[in-house]
Amino acid sequence: MAKTFLENVLETLRRGVELGGFPEEVYKILSKPERILIVKILVRMDDGRLEVFEGYRVQHNSALGPYKGGIRFHPEVTLDDDIALATLMTLKNSLAGIPYGGGKGAVRVDYKKLSEKELEQVSRGYARAIAPLIGDHIDIPAPDVGTNPQVMAWMVDEYSKLKGFNVPGVFTAKPPVLWGNPVRRYATGFGCAVMSREAAEKYLGGVEGKRVSIQGFGNTGRWHAYWLSKMGAKVVAISDTSGTLYDPEGIDVELAMKVKNETRKVINYPKGEKIPDPKAALYVEADILGPDAMENQITTENVGKVKAKIIVEGANGPTTPEAEIKLYEMGVVIVPDFLANAGGVIMSYLEWVENLQWYFWDEDETRARLERIMKNNFLKVYNKFEEIKGEKKEATMRDAALIISIERLYEAMRYRGWL
Ligand code: NAD
Repeated sequence: MAKTFLENVLETLRRGVELGGFPEEVYKILSKPERILIVKILVRMDDGRLEVFEGYRVQHNSALGPYKGGIRFHPEVTLDDDIALATLMTLKNSLAGIPYGGGKGAVRVDYKKLSEKELEQVSRGYARAIAPLIGDHIDIPAPDVGTNPQVMAWMVDEYSKLKGFNVPGVFTAKPPVLWGNPVRRYATGFGCAVMSREAAEKYLGGVEGKRVSIQGFGNTGRWHAYWLSKMGAKVVAISDTSGTLYDPEGIDVELAMKVKNETRKVINYPKGEKIPDPKAALYVEADILGPDAMENQITTENVGKVKAKIIVEGANGPTTPEAEIKLYEMGVVIVPDFLANAGGVIMSYLEWVENLQWYFWDEDETRARLERIMKNNFLKVYNKFEEIKGEKKEATMRDAALIISIERLYEAMRYRGWL
């Protein structure tokens, strides 16, 4: 039987604890959440029916600071999935070097079937239900699949009404007018571009003129492409579910964004070759590849077709573990997802710092701060990778990241006297 998501995450955790030579007690603590809240959300639907939705908030670990992680609205999400996601947030936030623990929330609901009014009721109902256990110094949710800045706006409004005053720092990724930050819109893709640039510095002698291919032209992929082109790289391929656009002369990313916004398809771009396979972006001649669409895209079946030298994982889990081993044998370096796509949560941290002080940086200042943190994080992992490569030739950059993440948690828990 295939392993569950939670089983896979626990296996990763186990591997990290063993690789870093940490005591078994570290696994014992990190393999279980600190607290789980299961809530019921009552919603009077537009047709008069009463619906009862189930929601969760998993508070996984608080050794490094308040719990932090998104809220997912999905019809099939389970409590076990939510625990797995919260565990990953603990690892991601620790690696990011920000003062947060890990948490994650979910509501079992198909948001696509809700009217705007019903969605608002679910959002407000969930915020009310978890309000006793969250707070700007306790647990700070953000959007995930199925939720967005509008949902955050309803939630921060509901929470603030309960408190009797505005509490901006309890949810992040809010609309800029409600104490959000304009950088959040592109933070994940921008962070991926910084990672690509730093990796290109180390392995390709710089990013200038390097060929880039991006699979997925959504929030992550389009800004990954946009900022890399601003940094001097040449974007030669982009794709979405309509197919792959390939132009070895270089794609005008701003024009491609306009075309995508207006027609919903990147292949409507006026120039270049149009390849019907959306996965073709993974196989074109490129120096840097951003698999930025979804999970399980590079597998043992297609790994042999990849030609890039560096892969920067914008999506979560785009490369299967078996394919990753093969890529390293082929001489490809992979900047792992939980390092590469942390720009969103790091931006959330900056927004929260602004909110706590009621003081706001302008867009350039915020972006510069985000860039500095991302760059430092890359260097931290790169140095660790170089160190462990000397000891173990099959080591990956993901191993190095995992060790750094668990090391920081271990240290915090040891000082606190938890083990
Ligand atoms: P999105 O829905 O905005 O974009 C996804 C894009 O991928 C769309 O353009 C879609 O057409 C395309 N796509 C889907 N299947 C494809 C395929 N097989 N081949 C090529 N293109 C395909 O989603 P997003 O927010 O950009 O998220 C993408 C990935 O990045 C996910 O794995 C997500 O978990 C991860 N991620 C996103 C953020 C964020 O802040 N948005 C943060 C961290 C991680």
